[in-house]
Amino acid sequence: MMAYLDHNATSPLRPAARDAMIAALAECGNPSSPHAAGRAARARVEAARRTLALAFDCALDSVIFTSGGTEANNLAVRGTGAATVLVSAVEHDSVREAERRAEVIPVDGNGIVDLEWLEARLARGGVGLVSVMLANNETGVIQPIADVVRLAHAEGALVHTDATQAAGRIPLSFESLDVELMTVSAHKLGGPPGVGALLVQEGFPLRPLLRGGRQEDGRRAGTENVPAIAGFAAAVEAALATADGTRALRDGLEARLLASAPGARILGALVDRLPNTTCIAMPGVAAETQVMALDLAGIAVSAGAACSSGKVRTSPVLAAMGVDAELARSAIRISLGWNSTADDVGRCAEAWWALWARTRGRKTVQAA
Ligand code: PMP
Repeated sequence: MMAYLDHNATSPLRPAARDAMIAALAECGNPSSPHAAGRAARARVEAARRTLALAFDCALDSVIFTSGGTEANNLAVRGTGAATVLVSAVEHDSVREAERRAEVIPVDGNGIVDLEWLEARLARGGVGLVSVMLANNETGVIQPIADVVRLAHAEGALVHTDATQAAGRIPLSFESLDVELMTVSAHKLGGPPGVGALLVQEGFPLRPLLRGGRQEDGRRAGTENVPAIAGFAAAVEAALATADGTRALRDGLEARLLASAPGARILGALVDRLPNTTCIAMPGVAAETQVMALDLAGIAVSAGAACSSGKVRTSPVLAAMGVDAELARSAIRISLGWNSTADDVGRCAEAWWALWARTRGRKTVQAA
């Protein structure tokens, strides 16, 4: 059996989400149609909206369903009409590339946005929107959004936060965060891929990206993906209803890896992180080698560096944190989720340690 430890890439579909999708797929109806079939489809969409509004503590009208985190991020960054946008150096490409002229907020060695830089830049004026993610996809590092909001609002700037990786993994309140816009995506929390939502403050004058229909109050045209939306809501409900056991598993895994492989480094470990993510470097062994060795042992994890056109690209996130390029190239991401078990984690620790021992010419014995 595969030990799937790559939940930050995508999480397996939760059974409740699959059931909700199958039920919705069995029915035909366009939520915009006034007949009974249309009304039934509309009821599913609105029930899902209520679930999200309750889960993320926002008004019903705040929820705009989209085709995922990427679209929600594009809609947020481009939909405010802000002329000057600031984005953090560790944002996902769907934020960074939504506005290529955006100015970049640097981060410190722990991956936390430089609040002094932000304050000074805001004081110079003209900033319309600040976009800082809630938690990073590679390191799990959680940003001080309350401080970002305080500084931005003091200078009249709006705030967007990409909560794609945080949603369903840590408690989130849109109202308490006090941001104008927040992105969530279904497939990182056990819902289907291809559906997400942008949460916006009530009455916020958002410019739509997709035009040509009155769906989502004219803010996102196109017939709603009813089965995906139903699956999203069921996954959100399941995520909130079940205790998250990932922190104990993750902390145990890290302790084991560090104890068995001196020199290994956990990146972002000194600050608040998501409970499910570890970004660990095995100095001297390329991330790709680790990913392949673990894959052969039936364990799915991911490399921090992406390989494109034959060249290994250092992770921009780790580069922005000032992590030495050599160390960054040896960093992998292990991310746990709703179905992770102690056995998965144990197998991962053993396979990783076996590789570490092999690369150091030692005899393989049981990991600590
Ligand atoms: N933001 C972050 C932080 C992500 O990790 C991802 C997914 N890799 C996205 C946005 C994009 O979300 P989606 O896959 O739903 O388009």
